Amino acid sequence: MQIHVINQGNFKLDGGAMFGVVPKTIWQKTNPADNNNMCDWAMRSLLIENNNRLILIDTGIGNKQNEKFYSHYYLSETDLFDKKLNNLGFSRDDITDVFLTHLHFDHCGGAIRLNKEKTGFEPAFKNAIYWSNKNHWEWATNPNPREKASFLKENILPIQQSGQLRFIERNQDSPILNSVFENIDVYFVDGHTESMMLPIIHSKGKSIYYMADLIPSVGHIPLPYVMGYDTRPLLTIDEKEKILSLASENEHILFFEHDFKNECCLVHLTEKGIRLKESFNLSDLI
Ligand SMILES: [Zn+2]
Repeated sequence: MQIHVINQGNFKLDGGAMFGVVPKTIWQKTNPADNNNMCDWAMRSLLIENNNRLILIDTGIGNKQNEKFYSHYYLSETDLFDKKLNNLGFSRDDITDVFLTHLHFDHCGGAIRLNKEKTGFEPAFKNAIYWSNKNHWEWATNPNPREKASFLKENILPIQQSGQLRFIERNQDSPILNSVFENIDVYFVDGHTESMMLPIIHSKGKSIYYMADLIPSVGHIPLPYVMGYDTRPLLTIDEKEKILSLASENEHILFFEHDFKNECCLVHLTEKGIRLKESFNLSDLI
């Protein structure tokens, strides 16, 4: 297995929304804000060469929304995906599987693009199976008012219309499921949104937890540091506690989709609870 990190670009989100009840005087130490209270965030995908499959985990925000939409997010370097893919020796058509942790626009926007005639939408990866799950799909296609602005129809419905959508079945007895991929488990969590899927990648004796929006950055490791966006914040705290304990006891690696500076980290138990031990790039390790 070969694992490549591809940052789909950076964007800005309101620091207060990202840290929920935590005061700015505290969160701004790890995540400094600009004059509009916006902080910088990455949108990091993983590209995994796994036997004869080439799996892309999450796709960033994409490029099909209008200027007004993007102006809210101060995007940078979001147009380099094809170049980064080519530098690794691949093109979009080589991707066999697109794994979507959940269907919020900053995770799945790049899955669908405008067609050549700009008259409609098409899958941005024409040979890929797109993976979601039944509960999350139903949740996203009949959205609650709180998340409605995050689930954009044009990101979601064309996946189904293309016939490329498949669901990963959730095992109700255990949060961890041996998935359809070799050496990749799927961990289901429900605090951020219904049935978000975190891939756990086992490679070269290490286990890498792709944290998506459960722990978006190093600054979110302390248990009460939960995003204001979460639909079930107390459940997020329980879910964080379980994963952080596993990671601390077994030296599992946490991989951050959104941390602007830190790709990965190890955690350990301190007097204050589980905290950052060290951060590093994935390429330093495997
Ligand atoms: Zn999200």
